[in-house]
Amino acid sequence: MSVFRTLDDLGDIQGKVALVRVDLNLPMRDGSVTDTTRVRAAAPTILELADKGAKVLLLAHFGRPGGERSSTMSLSMMVGAVEGVIGKEVMFIPELSGDVAKQAVGILRPGDVGILENSRFWKGEEANDPAFCAAIAELGDIYVNDAFSAAHRAHATTEGLARVLPAYAGRSMQAELEALDKALGEPKKPVAAVVGGAKVSSKLDVLLHLVGLVDHLIIGGGMANTFLAAKGVDVGKSLCEHDLTGTANDILAAAEASGCTVHLPYEVVVSKEFAANPASLRTCNVHEVAADEMILDVGPAAVEALGDVLKTCRTLVWNGPMGAFETEPFDAATVALARTAAALTREGSLVSVAGGGDTVAALNYAGVADDFSYISTAGGAFLEWMEGRELPGVAVLGQ
Ligand code: ADP
Ligand code: MG
Repeated sequence: MSVFRTLDDLGDIQGKVALVRVDLNLPMRDGSVTDTTRVRAAAPTILELADKGAKVLLLAHFGRPGGERSSTMSLSMMVGAVEGVIGKEVMFIPELSGDVAKQAVGILRPGDVGILENSRFWKGEEANDPAFCAAIAELGDIYVNDAFSAAHRAHATTEGLARVLPAYAGRSMQAELEALDKALGEPKKPVAAVVGGAKVSSKLDVLLHLVGLVDHLIIGGGMANTFLAAKGVDVGKSLCEHDLTGTANDILAAAEASGCTVHLPYEVVVSKEFAANPASLRTCNVHEVAADEMILDVGPAAVEALGDVLKTCRTLVWNGPMGAFETEPFDAATVALARTAAALTREGSLVSVAGGGDTVAALNYAGVADDFSYISTAGGAFLEWMEGRELPGVAVLGQ
C-alpha cells in the first residue's frame, strides 16, 4: 500500500489555517441542493480539524465554468447545505487568493469554517499553475485532501497545493484508500471481479488490468455480448461492439495466460423489444438467441452459478450492472448477484468493494448498499483506480 499522511500525523494545529479540498459538486435543482451525501462524507474531516482549533477553509470546484467567473456556478450556493450538515455557521469568501481573501481569513477564529470560491473560476486551477498554487497557499498553513472523487485530476487544488504545503489525506480519502487497498492492493485470495455495463470500449483498460490481478473475472451486461460474439456466438440484435471482438479475444488470451478464469453467461434473458415486461420475453441458452432478439440480462441459473463462484472467494470488486437493470425484469441478475455478495459480506466471508455511477444506483436499488464492505461514489476516479492507474492527487500525499 502506498503510504500517505493522515490527520493522525498532524501536530498542534491550534489557530492554524487548514486548506481542505472537498467535493462540493452537489446535485442541484432549481437553485437548491438536492443531495448532501458528499458534504456528509467530508464532515468528519471538517469537524475534526475545527475541533483541533484550526481555521478550516474549504476548497472545491463546481461544474465547468472554464476558467471564468459564473454567477450560476458560485460555491455561495453550497453554504446552506454545508451549514446544515456540520451544524456550524460557514463564511463564504468570494475569492481564492489575494488581499480580500486574506482579510476574510483574518476574521475567522479557531474552529471557524469558510468556503472559498469555485476553484474553476480561475484558469490556473485546471492548468495546475505553480504561481496560482503559491497564491492560494499564502492563505493557509496545511493542506488536506478529502476529495478522492477529484484525485484523478492533477489540478491546483487537487495536486499542486500538496507540493507547496504540508499535505494530508482527510478521513474520507483515507477510508476510500484503505478500502481500495483491501480490494486490490493486498486482497485476501481468491479475488473475484464483476465487470458489467454497456460497452467493452469504455472499460478496456479495466478488463486488461483485472485479468492480471484477479482469480475470477465475471463478465456481464452488454459487454458480455461482445465476448460471446468473439467466441462465435450469434447474439442477434443485442448491443454488441462487433469491431472489438479481436480485442475481446486478446483479453481472454491474457486471462488464460495469467491463470484468471473468465465467466461469461451461458444462459441469458432475451426479448425482441427493449421494454418493461415485453411479450417476447424468454430465457434461453446463449446458443439459442434468435436473429431478432437481444440479450438484456443474465439468466437465473447462470446467476446462481456465479453466486457459487463468489462463495469460493474472499474478495470481490464490482463495477457495472449485469443487465439493463433500469427496466424490469432485466434487473433480476444484478439484484440476485448483489444480494448473494451482500449475504456473504454480512457472514464475514467476503470483502466487497463496488463503484461506478450506475453500479451504485443498481446496488442502492437492490437494497444492499449498506451490506457491502465499501461503496465508492467517485465515478471517474474509481474507474481509473480499477484501471490500475496512479491517481495524481493520491500519489502526491505520499511524497
Ligand atoms: P457504471 O456507471 O457503473 O460504470 P456503465 O455505465 O458501464 O456502469 O453501464 C451501465 C449501463 O449498462 C446501464 O445503463 C445498463 O442499462 C446498461 N446495460 C447493462 N446490460 C445491458 C445489456 N445487456 N444491453 C444493453 N444495455 C445494458
Ligand atoms: Mg455509467
